[in-house]
Order: sequence, then structure tokens, then C-alpha cells
Amino acid sequence: GMTRYSPEGATPAMAQWFALKAENPEALLFFRMGDFYELFFDDATAAAAALDIALTARGNHAGEPIPMCGVPVAAASAYLARLIRRGFRVAVAEQTEAPRKGKGASKGPLARAVVRVITPGTLTEDELLEPGRSNLLLALVESTASTGRGRKSKNAEAAQPEAPLGAAWIDVSTGLFETAHITQKNLAGLLGRLDPAEILVPPGFPLGDFESCRAPDVLVPGVEAARQRLASAFSVASVDAFGTFSDEEAVAAALAVEYVQRSQAGKLPRLAHPSPQTDGGILGIDPATRASLDILRARDGGMEHTLFSAVNRAVTAAGARLLAEWLAAPLTDTGRIAARQEGWVWLRDAGTCRDSLRDALKKAPDIARALGRLSLGRGQPRDLASIRDGLAAAREAASALGGSKADLPPYLDKAVSRLGVATDLQAELTRALAENLPARLEDGGVIAAGYDGELDGYRGLRDNSRRIVAGLQTDYAARFGVASLKIKHHAQLGYVIEVPVSASSRMKDQDGLMFRQGTASNARFSTEELSGLDAKIAEAGERAAAREKGLFTALAEAVLAEQDVPVLAKALAVLDVLQSCAALAAGGSWCRPVVTDDGAFDLHGCRHPVVEAALPKGTRFTPNGCDLSPKRRVMLLTGPNMAGKSTFLRQTALAIILAQGGFPVAADKAHIGVVDQLFSRVGASDDLARGRSTFMVEMTETAAILNQAGPRSLVVVDEIGRGTATLDGLAIAWSVLEALHSTVRCRAIFATHFHELSGLVDTLPRLSPHTMAVREWRGQIVFLHEVLAGSAKKSWGVHVARLAGVPTSVVERAGRLLRELEKDHATGPKPLPLFDTQKTIPQEDETTLRKRLVDLDVDALTPRAALDMLYELHKEA
Ligand code: ADP
Repeated sequence: GMTRYSPEGATPAMAQWFALKAENPEALLFFRMGDFYELFFDDATAAAAALDIALTARGNHAGEPIPMCGVPVAAASAYLARLIRRGFRVAVAEQTEAPRKGKGASKGPLARAVVRVITPGTLTEDELLEPGRSNLLLALVESTASTGRGRKSKNAEAAQPEAPLGAAWIDVSTGLFETAHITQKNLAGLLGRLDPAEILVPPGFPLGDFESCRAPDVLVPGVEAARQRLASAFSVASVDAFGTFSDEEAVAAALAVEYVQRSQAGKLPRLAHPSPQTDGGILGIDPATRASLDILRARDGGMEHTLFSAVNRAVTAAGARLLAEWLAAPLTDTGRIAARQEGWVWLRDAGTCRDSLRDALKKAPDIARALGRLSLGRGQPRDLASIRDGLAAAREAASALGGSKADLPPYLDKAVSRLGVATDLQAELTRALAENLPARLEDGGVIAAGYDGELDGYRGLRDNSRRIVAGLQTDYAARFGVASLKIKHHAQLGYVIEVPVSASSRMKDQDGLMFRQGTASNARFSTEELSGLDAKIAEAGERAAAREKGLFTALAEAVLAEQDVPVLAKALAVLDVLQSCAALAAGGSWCRPVVTDDGAFDLHGCRHPVVEAALPKGTRFTPNGCDLSPKRRVMLLTGPNMAGKSTFLRQTALAIILAQGGFPVAADKAHIGVVDQLFSRVGASDDLARGRSTFMVEMTETAAILNQAGPRSLVVVDEIGRGTATLDGLAIAWSVLEALHSTVRCRAIFATHFHELSGLVDTLPRLSPHTMAVREWRGQIVFLHEVLAGSAKKSWGVHVARLAGVPTSVVERAGRLLRELEKDHATGPKPLPLFDTQKTIPQEDETTLRKRLVDLDVDALTPRAALDMLYELHKEA
């Protein structure tokens, strides 16, 4: 921290630095000095290391050199991006007063102020954002009833799954603003779904995997203050105008707004009205499930091998963002799902209509993000151009679908009806903007000639004077007899005559010429005529620039005043997602699933779109059906490693996400009764980074499923019990399977290498055993990747041992042993009491057991110690 340095005895410039730093202790201070942002003291040390740039020193403070590093203003965004990605916050302090010339320069440092604090959750620049992903700031607030009581411990927290939480999230770059009233137990699901860039929480609030997103501590306002704050931010009498917000939601929303406003130095960007999301209506996907399915991000951290990449055919960034949102939060309302489906089915069958729609959409820039920048006064010429082109593209998109408007399904019709707006604005922008726009407003030439008389006048004056300068050059060259005479403009001297040194003696005697400067090769002179012109041109130039800036601001305001523009932007995004679905479905191998409210579950010819896309050329993906209808809702799947079990489990889970997101499904035919919660535990998820053993993780996740899943849930689990000794593992797998089948009564696929479990078919009526088809062909094992009814006839382990060259005597001995063991199991294993749901533990034992479990430091436990503990508990029970 900065405690090592005290501002005492600082030079005036450094005193200013100390003052600004004190206002923003959590951020690196980018201190504007001329063409550089400079960093000092610990900020410099940290930034130099993070950016790999030189650390130097500037002057002294308290007898020691001040560490310093700097980045050029012109290249700042690249450096900012790197710092933000590394989790830093940056406060940008600009000079708020123009540089003084001449005498005034000695009056101390120029005034500076922090104009912005750049944090991961409040970005607006395209350079700092991913085009196809939202960038969310999330605020979380605990039950307002309990504020003031203080927090006890993390354990006390976990013991209150029903504790209410207010959540509010904002995407500053697009203006999205939503809230939700949730309970503690739903928090992990919400975090996984939103994947926020930054989270505002009360001090000490545990964030688990999202710890790195924690924002600096903030003051939580009271309920009344929060409601007033929101109402005034949106200029309404009461926030009730936008819906019903719980106290917690209102406080969270106010907190988020406050933080955004502070990060933008008091300016509030354009935000949509806060929109309360009802808790229901969304498929529950817990974080472990999300992690195992590679929906938006793959386990390797990349985006390539994800469900998103496999289905995304959107042609705009806004479309990609919305598509990602739909994938992250599939629905449970069959009506809403059907509405989306009808939209893309119509487009799928619309032929050339779809092509023209896609061509129109391709021309639509990112309207939402352009609006975000304009509303913060950070807009550039291309942002206005984005609005102009976006409006034009919307009109074109509308006419692409217009011909057959009569028979558009309602969802499509609603989107189309929002496109034909803001005609006047579009015309105005088209008239106002020059054809070739500069990158920055300061570069000039943004406004087209002929749009504004006053601006044209100043420009004329400026350009005319330039012509006069050119004429003077010819005159002077003739008058002084120096053919190589040039009139040039210099930053300090203004317009000067420049001649080679060889001609300078001839010039020096001339009347009206003032010698200004000599270099090794040139001599520079001025005349009164030139100085006068200089002032005139500068003045005209300044007036033109000021006028242009004024016109730009007026246009930006006109854009922001048009309430229909953000609505139109959303409609374009919807159309893009629908055309993306249509394009996918038009390929022929994706179907429209039937989604109903009953317990149906029947997939025909289903595939894993990501694995399929990654198969080497010439290899075909083997489609598989999956029937989990009420009479056979638990599938037991056996088969050796590499036979395709995890692929099958995942593709079934992905089919649900796609179907309930309203997307086409990678199958020939699908009928799905809505799933309320999806649980997937596939693939070893050694959580070694968090110091937990594999077995402990497996059991924690198993417990989560058994505690949360219900009859409408879908559970797909792979190799429960693999993390421990065989008998232990078998016992656990067995009892979990029983619990899923008879207590939870959900739909499930249970993959295991414990063939013994097939014996449970006799006692569990809804269990349907399946196995992965494997053939022996010319002494090789061939995986057919086909899911067949029945159980594995043969244990392939012994076979593999032979192939691997284990001596015949050993293999034969193993074969004999196997037959012995199989005989022992022929009658089927007896149920083990470990997870017996019928059996109740006496009250007294329960409390001591509970106490021992509570006292246990699970994270510090080695797998060995955990196992010992389990044996010990088991013996005592
Ligand atoms: P398991 O979980 O049984 O060990 P996986 O599901 O990981 O096996 O599959 C192993 C490999 O087999 C996959 O990486 C893929 O290349 C291939 N594979 C799996 N399922 C299929 C399928 N249905 N069609 C074609 N290849 C498949």
C-alpha cells in the first residue's frame, strides 16, 4: 500500500498525485503528463512488472528517488487491456486545464482530475471487450433484515440455504440492467449463468470460484435511500414503475448504479430500466454441471471446443451475445420455447428470404455498444456511423421479411415490427456525417460539407487562407530570388519562410523579414503578413473544430433521445439468433424438438456436436438414441473406457440445454418433457488446485445432487465411486443409484464400470441396463460407440491384458479368478447400509457425528486420511 509514503514535503505536482491517489486507493493511478500517462511509487513497480516495461525514477521524495514508469497516451488502450485482464483497476487522471504558454507556466502544475476509474465490470471500449460476450457487473446484497447483526462464519452462512439475496447486474457497454431476488442456495447457479466480470458484495461475503472478481468494499445504502437513488437515476417518482423489487433487489440495484456512476466520474451511462427477473422459468444448472459441459467456455479455458462454437451461426456481435445468453439460461416455459422454435422454423423454410435477412444483418454494426459509449460522452465518429448503418440495416432486414409479413409467427413478427423506427434520425445522420470519417472527433472532418452553413463558413476561411499561403510562397520565392523557398508551419513559430543556409545571407538584408531560427541546414524567417494569416487560420480552424464538436454532441444527443434505438438493437439481435438457428437446422441433421410439460424423454439419433466436429476426417460419429421415459427413467450404462460413455452422457445433457434454449437439437427426432434442473458429473474433476482429494470432490458433488435433484431433474453421472477402493466404491455407487431411482425419482443416466450393478434390474423396476457395444476383430478391440440394451457380457479388462502382452499364465489365472468372482456375485450383491435412506441414525449419535463432521477441516484432508475417517465412522455406525 501507499502507507510507506507520506505526502509530506512533496513537490506541487507530486502533492497533486498524492491527493488523487488518496481518492482512489484501489486503483493504479494513470497520471497524465503531456503525451504520457505516468505511474509513480508502488503503482509504477506493479505496472512495470505487469506490462514488462522499464521502471525508471523521477526526482526525489523523502530523500529517495521516486519509482516511475509511463505509457504513451496514444497507445494506452493496449496497456489498459493488459492491466485489466490481470485484475488491476486503473484511475485515469487527465489535465483539466489547457497547457499554459509563456509566463503562466510558472504558476504550478496544471489542474488534474480523475475522469474515470476503469474496472473489469465497467468497460466500454471495444479494445477492452469481447465482441460476442456480455461484460457484467454484479451486485449482491444479503437480507436487509439481518444487516447490522454482522456475519458470523462461513459455516453459519452455508447453513442458511434459504437466506434471501438481492442481485442486480449491469452491462455498462450495452445498458443491460436486470435484477433478481434469489436465495443463498441459488447463488452458485446464478454466478455460473452470468459469469460476471466484477462482483460487488458486502465485506467478507464468500465468493468461492468467483473470488477473483471481488470489487473493492463499498458502503451498502439503506432500503429507503436505495429506492430513492434508483428513482432519481431514472427520473421517476418510484422504481415500482418498472416492476416489483424486493428490498434486497432494490439495494443491490442502487449499489450497482452507484458503482457505475463512480467509475465514470459521476456520469451515468444510458441504462435500460432495471428489469426484475422472476426466479422461475430458467433451467437450473449448477456450476459443476456448467464446468463439465463446456457450454460457453471449454475446460481448457478456450472457446473453440464449446457448445457455443458448435451452434453459433450469428453474423453480428450482438447476436452472438444474445445467443450466449440463451445458451447460458435455457427456459422451462414450453410456451416461450415454442415461440423461439416457430421463429427459426419459419426462417429455415423461408429459403432466399433468410439469405437476404442474413445479408442485411451482416451490415449491422454493434449498436448497443456504440450507444453505451455515446451516452458516456466517450463516443467517436464511428459510433454515430454505427447507429446510422444499424438503422439502415434494420430497414433492410425488415424488408427482407416484409414481403410475407402476413404469415410471420408472432415472435418473429414482434421483432420485425421494431425495426422500422427512427427514420428521421437515420436521415439526419446520413446527411450529417462525412463519407470518410476520421478515427477521432479531434481530427476534424466528421461533419459533411453542406450540412451546416456556419461550419462551412469557418472551413472556407481556413482553407482559403491556406490557398493564400501557397500563393505567398510563389511571391516570396520570386521576390527574394530563392527558388527553393518554402512556407512551412511549425508548432512553436507558426508559419515561417524556410530557406537553405546557403541562401540565408541574401535574406538577412531584406526589409520586413524577421530572422526567427537557424538550424544546421535551414534558416527560418517570418513576416508580418504571415503572422497575421497564421492567427486568422488558427482562429478559423479553432472555430471550425468547436462548431464541429457542437454538432457532434447534438447528434449524439438526438441518438440518445430516441428510445426506439435500443429496442431496435435488441430486435436485430433476436433476428440474428433466429437466423443462426435456421441456418443450423437447414443443414438437415438438426431437428426441432417437441418440448412438453410431461415426463417424456425420447431422443433418436442424437449426437454430440462438439465431439462430432472434432472427429478426424473420414471418421463418422455414431448417433445414439436415449429413452428415459417414465417406465425406464434410470439408465445404467456399462462398458470399458474409451467406449464413448462420457460422450453419450454429455450429448444427452447438451440436447436438453439446446431444446430448452429454443435451439435445434443435434438429433433426428427428440421429445422432451421439460427438465427443471440439470446435473452433470462427467470426467474426472480433480480439484487439486483447491487442495481437495478427488474422492472428496466426487462425494461432495454426489451429495449436492442427492440433496437438490427432484423428480423433474435430469442427472447424468459417470463413474461414481471410482475414487476409492473397489468394495467401497461399489457400495457407494450402488446406494447412490438406489437413491436416484427410488428416493429422488429423477431421470438419470448412470455410467459405471461396476458390472455388478446390472443385477439391480430385478429390484429397481425403472432401471434399464445398457452397454457400449465393443467387438473383437482380428485380435483387436473395436469400439462401435453404440449404446445397446442389456449388460456387458464380457469383462474386457482381461482381454486388454492379453493384448498388452501380459504373460499367458497370468492372463489365464486372471480369467479363472474372474469366473470365481462372478459366481460369488451371481446372486447379486446384498444392499449395504452406508447410504440406506430407510435407516435412521439415533439422535445422540447424530449430534456427535455432526459435530465431528463440522469440526473437520475438509480442505486439509489427504485422500488417505479421508478414507481412514470413513472406515472409522462406518465401524462406529
Ligand atoms: P469413455 O467415457 O467411455 O471413456 P469417451 O466418451 O471419452 O469414452 O469417448 C472416447 C473417444 O471415442 C472420443 O474422444 C471420441 O473420439 C470417440 N467417440 C465417442 N463417442 C463416439 C461416437 N458416438 N461416435 C464416434 N466416435 C465417438
